[in-house]
This record gives sequence, structure tokens and C-alpha cells, in this order.
Amino acid sequence: MKPAKKTPALRKLLEMNKKTIRELRKIVGQDQVITAPEELSCYSYDGTGQEYPPAAVIFPGSSEEICRIMQMASATPFPVVPRGAGTGMTGGALPVAGGLVMVMSRLNRILEIDQDNQLAVVEPGVITGALRLAAERHGLYYPPDPASLHFCTMGGNVAECAGGPSAVKYGVTRDYVLGLEAVLPDGRLIHTGVRTAKGVVGYDLTRLLVGSEGTLAIITRITVKLLPAPEARSTLLVLCRGMAEATSLVTGILAHHTPCTLEYMDRTALAIVRDKLPFPFPQEAEALLLVELDGQKETVPLAIRQLTEFLQTRPGIIMSRKAESPVEAQQLWAARRAISPAAFSLKPHKMSEDVVVPRSRLPQLVSCTEALNRELGVVIFTFGHAGDGNIHVNIMLDRSVPQEVIQAETAKQLLFTEVLRLGGTLSGEHGIGLTKAAYLPMELDQPTLALMRQIKNLFDPDNILNPGKIFPAPAQTAAEKNI
Ligand SMILES: Cc1cc2nc3c(=O)[nH]c(=O)nc-3n(C[C@H](O)[C@H](O)[C@H](O)COP(=O)(O)OP(=O)(O)OC[C@H]3O[C@@H](n4cnc5c(N)ncnc54)[C@H](O)[C@@H]3O)c2cc1C
Repeated sequence: MKPAKKTPALRKLLEMNKKTIRELRKIVGQDQVITAPEELSCYSYDGTGQEYPPAAVIFPGSSEEICRIMQMASATPFPVVPRGAGTGMTGGALPVAGGLVMVMSRLNRILEIDQDNQLAVVEPGVITGALRLAAERHGLYYPPDPASLHFCTMGGNVAECAGGPSAVKYGVTRDYVLGLEAVLPDGRLIHTGVRTAKGVVGYDLTRLLVGSEGTLAIITRITVKLLPAPEARSTLLVLCRGMAEATSLVTGILAHHTPCTLEYMDRTALAIVRDKLPFPFPQEAEALLLVELDGQKETVPLAIRQLTEFLQTRPGIIMSRKAESPVEAQQLWAARRAISPAAFSLKPHKMSEDVVVPRSRLPQLVSCTEALNRELGVVIFTFGHAGDGNIHVNIMLDRSVPQEVIQAETAKQLLFTEVLRLGGTLSGEHGIGLTKAAYLPMELDQPTLALMRQIKNLFDPDNILNPGKIFPAPAQTAAEKNI
């Protein structure tokens, strides 16, 4: 990992003054602020593999403490970066301007599961998978299922508007957040949304905060909608002769069925997780679709039969096979979730893009990545949520080889240009953060971008909350001048 370049401003921030640290310890307790370099390094990276050391890390235990910390941060001022589990893929939790990283791990209680009204109230440090399990114990279902669900947090999911395989039928985090409690950069506590099935009082601040990547407010409590748990689920694996054949199946499947997942892997993704798949597959397979149907016990087998019959009429399919047991289905999913970490067997570094195109344009998207591979010689592979048109494009590289960095950057720029030409968008679920900030003007026009900057200024006039994210950072913020 490459350490952050220590500019004079950053060096100043790294030496966060002793009085500030003493005051912070008075708010949260002596042990809940750390400053030792070896401990700080545990909170200086995220899923991008980049590293920026903070001046200190704080572990607040309540919303009230967060209000007091933020009052101090805005009065001093110094930067504050909220952090969940640090699994973000775009550098959102990286303290690029130094300052204080605020970790939510102590705010990890599921406060309520209201079975009658089908909702849950959680603190931001709750692990997403833990909420799903708790809901299941009440016969309920929390659908958003990022592949990181066993270790990412609800606060991080809300801040990024995380999605997952089930989004094709159930939608993303945004579709489940009913209301939020949050702390503004100046320390005021706000409450947005409702805990009812409907509500249109005032502007929809809940929607504004979902996906705001920790730049507008610190989310301290989350009310989410739950659904009745589906009774049955069945998984079908479809192996195809080519990437174009697999991706062109997507619109056909969705025209007749409502799968709860419709995932895609190209030949490289298949190869790197081959040993994790529960059964061997033919060498000539170039792409795979993982299709899942859920619903009532009586209807799912019939729907799977109809889907299998439909697939038999389509060209380019080598075989389709139903997972014969829940264990086999779990093994298929374990292989799917292993793709991201397994990618490092190809090269030591990766640029992980999560572009979205209209589903009918998926074949053009994968053909573009093939062309980039052929013409630039970059190692590039694709997998992801084909049912949403949301494909993870992974550009693999060795950052110590300058030529590979140039080729990868060129591939990323060409990919983004093609995605926008196809009517798509640069990010479906990972957000903009640090790694895509420079590309924002490619997609957003100037008036829209200016309005977004004004919203950021309104919430955070001194730019103390997660500076340097979404928008390219101004040369020097007020917070940087003052510490
Ligand atoms: C193996 C792997 C698989 C993944 N699969 C998926 C996937 O399928 N779908 C998907 O959407 N993402 C996926 N991700 C990305 C990542 O897990 C999500 O973006 C997740 O939502 C981040 O949660 P986190 O708790 O790790 O947040 P962090 O990485 O700690 O933070 C992410 C952002 O949220 C902000 N934030 C965190 N907590 C708060 C809070 N309480 N208030 C305000 N802002 C806050 C941070 O400042 C930062 O900007 C994957 C990542 C990995 C490593």
C-alpha cells in the first residue's frame, strides 16, 4: 500500500494538538480515543487498499457524545471522517485531510424489531448480516445484501446506498430506509422521515442523506422497513458459451420472470473461483448466470420449471443446473462472494468500478471491456448484478509498474466514456468517494454539480465532515488552516 503524501497541511493535521485530544477524551472516556501510530494504521485504509493516516480515532458511545464531538470539531475546526467497517470501495472512509476518524463500532445495538409494523430500528454500527438474522428470527426479511454483508455496517450501507444481488427484485438500501437520526457538522441533532408506511411532511431529507457518503451528517440511528420472509428460494446456475450470449439473456429472463437475483460472471471470474464451485463445469464455458427465484413454497418450483423451459429455447447455453440442496446453493454464493478477494491472485492491485448500463446494453458493455483487454493489454474482468445492468468492472494492475498504471487509467477513462454513451451511470452502489471524484463532471452537468456543492456548503460551511469526497477538494479548507 502506498502511504499518503504528507503535505505541510496534512503534517499539521497529523499532529492534532494535545489539548484537543484531552477534550475529546473528556467526552468519550480516556480509552475511547487512540493516537498511537500502530493503532491508527488499522483505521487508515479501506476496500480501495489506499492508506491515509488520521491524527486520532474516536469511538463514541452515544448520539449525545457525537453532538459534543461535532460542536468541538466545528468550533476548532478539524476534519471528521465517519467510519463503519472500512469496506468501502471508493475511499469514502479515508481521512485524506487527516483529522479525526469516528468509528461507529460501539453503536452496534439493534434497538427494536417491530413485528406488527414490519420495521427495525438500529444503530449505525450494526453489521448488516446481524440485522438480517435478527429479522429472520421474527419471520421478517431485510433484503439489501451487499456481498460484504457479514462485515459491513448499516451506517456504511446507508451512507453509500449499498445494493446487492437481491436489488433486482427488492431494490437497494434507499428503498428500505424510513427515517434517520443524524448529527449535523455543527453538532445539531436532526430527525428525518417517519416510522409509518407513508409520510410526505417537508422535504425528503432521508433520501438526501442516503448515499451522501458521510459528507452531510453523521447517521446515528436508522429506521428500516422489513418484509415478510419469503417461504422458499431456488437457485439455478446457467453456463453460457460466450459473454454476449449470457448478457443478452438478461432482458429475456426479466420479461417473463421476477428473479430475486440475476448475477453474472465472465470467464476470468469463473476461473479464479473455479475451486470453490460445488461441481465441475465444462471448459468451454465463457460466462455464468446465477438466477434465483423466491416466493411461496408452492409457486417457486413451478416458476423454476418455466424458467428452465424458457432457457432451453435460447441459443448459447451449455447447461443449466438447479442447486440440489441449500448447502449447494450456499456454496455457489460463497464462490460468488469470493470473486472480489480472489481477484488479487491476478495482480496485486485493482481498480474496482461499478458502472450501470440499461440492461439491453449489457452485451455492448462486456464487448467494450473485451476490446480494452485486447487493445490496451490490461487485465480486466467483469461480474456482478446483471439483473440491474450493474456490472463490476475490475481493472487489475501492479501499481509499481508505471506503464500498467497509465494503461489502467486509460482503460477507466474509456470505460466511463462508453458507459455514458450507452446511457448508463458511473456508479450503481459504491459511490463516488475519492476514487471517482475527478470523473463526476463527466456525468453531471455544471448547474447540477453547482447545486450539489451548495447543498454541501449549507450542511457543512467549513467543510469539516469528510472533506475531499465526492467533489474534488478545494486547495485548502478552513479546517486545514486551523489545526
Ligand atoms: C468483498 C466486498 C464486497 C462488497 N460488495 C458490495 C456489494 O455487493 N454491494 C455494495 O453496495 N457494496 C459492496 N461493497 C462495498 C462496501 O461493503 C459498501 O459500500 C458498504 O456499504 C460499506 O460499509 P462500511 O460499514 O464498510 O462503511 P465504510 O467503508 O466504513 O464507509 C463507507 C462510507 O460511509 C460513510 N459512513 C460510514 N458510517 C457512517 C455513518 N454512521 N454516518 C455517516 N456516514 C457514514 C463513510 O464516511 C464512508 O464515506 C463490497 C466491499 C467488499 C470489500
